Amino acid sequence: MQRILLLGGTTEASLLVRALADAGLDAVYSLAGRTEEPARQPLPLRVGGFGGVSGLQAYLQTEAISHVIDATHPFASGMSLNAVHACARTGVALLALERPAWVAGEGDRWTRAGSGAKAAAALPLAATRVFLAIGRQTLEDFAIAPQHHYLLRLVDPPKTGLPLARVEVVLGRGPFQVEDDVDLMRRHGTQIVVCKNSGGTGARAKLDAARELGLEVIMIDRPAVPERPSVATLPEVMIWLHGTARGV
Ligand code: NAP
Repeated sequence: MQRILLLGGTTEASLLVRALADAGLDAVYSLAGRTEEPARQPLPLRVGGFGGVSGLQAYLQTEAISHVIDATHPFASGMSLNAVHACARTGVALLALERPAWVAGEGDRWTRAGSGAKAAAALPLAATRVFLAIGRQTLEDFAIAPQHHYLLRLVDPPKTGLPLARVEVVLGRGPFQVEDDVDLMRRHGTQIVVCKNSGGTGARAKLDAARELGLEVIMIDRPAVPERPSVATLPEVMIWLHGTARGV
């Protein structure tokens, strides 16, 4: 019997939930619970951490999971690492659905940074207006550069104080449009964009907008995750599920 655990938190995961439901597959969709109101889902939803590798291992066994699909964000490396270990220990099949990383094209002015802290260190010394498009989890990295004015785009209003002094928050949930991001950056006088190399289309608009405005982008590279079977598209996931269900 096939029973799937889908680790989500991305646009692709939301699309995959629909595809699994439409195919009539037995699956549970799992979210970390970072956003306040997850959209309604066509499959059973569980929310919150499992409790590390051992917690996930116990969950896989209790729930008789046969397949794990890791469709978490490329920067959610803790969850991905746990999934690799828990699946190896339990013999559960694992597949990652990974968006290809963005690559700089003609007209792009990108500086790559190996981490958020390195991106903060790469900012100019003089006060600059920065569009800090990295979500809210790792903002502390930028506390070392308090002279800048930071524009944040968040899904939910921040409940606690932010670790940055000069900060303005706009709320928004992707996908974003290039014209809107050009307009946003113009209105806020953005001089530099800092973002994570998330890949995908939903958050790509800010890069096209930065190119259009001739702005520098500091691009934070993805964290490393262990080798694991991985595909880039939904149809490939469905083929994998079909193939493993029939034992090929
Ligand atoms: P993370 O650092 O890899 O995960 C931290 C912990 O959160 C995990 O160890 C796990 O807790 C729990 N967790 C993460 N994803 C989960 C899931 N799908 N279901 C159940 N528990 C989960 O991840 P993160 O960077 O905090 O991201 C959290 C979620 O937001 C992910 O689902 C990710 O896809 C989504 N997201 C992240 C980013 C980003 O830039 N990091 C951007 C967009 C969306 P336990 O160890 O207790 O199991």
